[in-house]
Amino acid sequence: MYVLEKEYDVLVIGGGIAGVASALSAKRENKSVCIIEKSVVLGGLATLGLVNWFEPLCDGTGEQLIYGITEELLKLAIKDGFNDLDEKWLKKEKVSIEDKRYATHFSPTLYSVYLNKLLYDEGIFVRYDSLATYPIMERGLIKGVEVETVSGKEFYKAKVVIDATGNATIFDRAGAKCETGLNYLSYLSYITDFSQPIEKREQTRRWIYSGGNMVGRGQPEDVPLLKGVSSDDVNTMINRGQRILFGKMQDLKNSEIINLTGMPQFRMIRHMVGEYELTGEDVYKEFEDSVGVIGNYLKREEWYEIPFRALYNKDYPNLLPAGRIISATGKAWDVTRVIPVCALTGEVAGVVASMLIDEKVEVKDVSVKKLQENLTKRGIKLYKRKCQE
Ligand SMILES: Cc1cc2nc3c(=O)[nH]c(=O)nc-3n(C[C@H](O)[C@H](O)[C@H](O)COP(=O)(O)OP(=O)(O)OC[C@H]3O[C@@H](n4cnc5c(N)ncnc54)[C@H](O)[C@@H]3O)c2cc1C
Repeated sequence: MYVLEKEYDVLVIGGGIAGVASALSAKRENKSVCIIEKSVVLGGLATLGLVNWFEPLCDGTGEQLIYGITEELLKLAIKDGFNDLDEKWLKKEKVSIEDKRYATHFSPTLYSVYLNKLLYDEGIFVRYDSLATYPIMERGLIKGVEVETVSGKEFYKAKVVIDATGNATIFDRAGAKCETGLNYLSYLSYITDFSQPIEKREQTRRWIYSGGNMVGRGQPEDVPLLKGVSSDDVNTMINRGQRILFGKMQDLKNSEIINLTGMPQFRMIRHMVGEYELTGEDVYKEFEDSVGVIGNYLKREEWYEIPFRALYNKDYPNLLPAGRIISATGKAWDVTRVIPVCALTGEVAGVVASMLIDEKVEVKDVSVKKLQENLTKRGIKLYKRKCQE
């Protein structure tokens, strides 16, 4: 029935930032890992989607909150390409509220090549141009995922599956409760200033917005808010976005468009609903089962802890979410969907996946204490108050 059947400890669906972090994390726990990616580059929205701004790893007052694989991935993003990071962060010097946050621009093109090399060097198998279609479920457990490729239908069996699709396709198709989001029509492309010498052009790369920005300014009046789970809406986003861009092209002086997005730029598509749904009300809330602390990219000083319960649905014992599909809604969805938080939840998912395999338990029975010990060993800060110690 299948043209190919393979088996791994951990199968990661989606090679965006969350998928990459999950895969690295599980592999470093000595698990065999495969990523299934429908496009032909790694990085998802951060590369293919042209979103080349790594939101802050700090709280905005000078205190770093996110460490581990996230910090490693930020450093990789600026290894050879341009950046605008305040050097104080890299030198671990004291940073104040007056300074720039621990955030940076990066080259999305170079980044995807570096991500590919990193995963290759670490022995992670990446299967490109492969669309994960349906999970195969057996008595509540996910046994693996069917994948459509140019060769035909393939089957990837796994002990644990991590859904890092950015739209919770695997959770949704496994029958789990999910929530969908509404989005402005956003179509970001890159332009560069061609009056600059060639070696400076990469640095003059900037976004040109067609359609609504983050708060909806520029949204065409006749276009309703869009859902990323409707093919009609995806096509509206792309077709209409390109036509608006076409109109803007006529006014560009000294600039040319150098990249179009390779994926629809919906911010919030669909997330799974876990045992706990993080909300805006949870700002400054301490959780006993915290698996990481994050800042609000929009507002200095605000922070959130992410409870482990937002990272699983007990009815799906070996299926985990990573990235912008974790159980967070409203304002909390907005603060958890950014690149560094996607990497953080990816790293946590990789550690949890490994514990499920080693301890032969269901996700609801994972020892929170042991999980927190494992994360702490990786340098991850769990609690804001502990960061201040
Ligand atoms: C317009 C816009 C601006 C943004 N600006 C910023 C910003 O400035 N800074 C910031 O930090 N964040 C920003 N974000 C948010 C951030 O970029 C994303 O939320 C984050 O990168 C998501 O990472 P992810 O890995 O969870 O998902 P994604 O990046 O969506 O990755 C999912 C991956 O899964 C693959 N995939 C999906 N379905 C399947 C399938 N069925 N089979 C196989 N593969 C599949 C996709 O091809 C993709 O590679 C922005 C988002 C948008 C839309």
